Amino acid sequence: MRENYGTALITGGGSGIGRAAALALAQRGARVVVTDLRLESAIEVAREITTAGGEAIGIALDVGDAASILSAFDRTEAEFGNVDVLVNSAGLLLVEPLLSFSPESWERVMRVNVTGTFLASQRAAQGMAERGYGRIVNITSVSGLRAGVGRTAYGTSKAAIIGLTRQFALELGPLGVTANAIAPGAIETPMTLGTYSDETWENILAMVPAKRRGTPQDIAEAIVYIASPAASYVNGETLTVDGGYVAAGMTQTGRLRV
Ligand code: NAP
Repeated sequence: MRENYGTALITGGGSGIGRAAALALAQRGARVVVTDLRLESAIEVAREITTAGGEAIGIALDVGDAASILSAFDRTEAEFGNVDVLVNSAGLLLVEPLLSFSPESWERVMRVNVTGTFLASQRAAQGMAERGYGRIVNITSVSGLRAGVGRTAYGTSKAAIIGLTRQFALELGPLGVTANAIAPGAIETPMTLGTYSDETWENILAMVPAKRRGTPQDIAEAIVYIASPAASYVNGETLTVDGGYVAAGMTQTGRLRV
């Protein structure tokens, strides 16, 4: 069995879950290509890695733009070698009421979350299939499994990512490439800190058996496993990392009466 991670490219690697994944994969010996919409944040995370003795570069990549995806992969291959691990963490959360959800917001969320994941995965998979090895890790959400107010586009896009993951798993499995998804629960990152009020956090935690907010590191540990050579028989799976939220039923906060 292969022993190392090889080269890992992370979209949305400049912040939150993507950043934690970049740092964790680098700690396990991966050469890391940190990509993000904002070049500065990608470079900043790459610098954190190299300062700690790892190997990394930072590249601008807008997953909402097909040309940007292709040029980032071309540059990676020229400067850093083939991509063995792809982590699709870039994502956009726009919350609007369903009855007035704007077509523009719908289109943006779908383009970034679904089309972006598809195009980056397809580009990575072409090289992986040729070499007979690869790991694709898509970051979906518990919002892809359970409905949430205002998440008309976001929830639908995350459900689509679960379907997309299975499509990739089926066609790439015979070629030595796995595609899996991780569905985080409520994780404390700039995305949620900018969206959730204290009251929202309180309501969420009432439904989470772990009774704490998730951390980007909680998700990074799952990514490190799914992206490892050891996970070769895990394919097409969606792993919830949510403190037990999806597992819990409606009586979890009630008092036990016998
Ligand atoms: P985050 O801290 O905001 O990180 C997301 C990163 O993606 C940011 O650096 C963002 O850049 C970047 N990004 C946005 N649009 C992009 C684009 N078009 N191309 C490339 N990069 C783009 O949020 P996070 O919580 O870590 O989210 C990471 C992933 O986890 C997302 O897919 C999210 O849907 C998913 N997720 C998060 C949670 C949670 O509770 N946090 C739960 C379930 C799933 P800017 O900052 O410049 O916009």
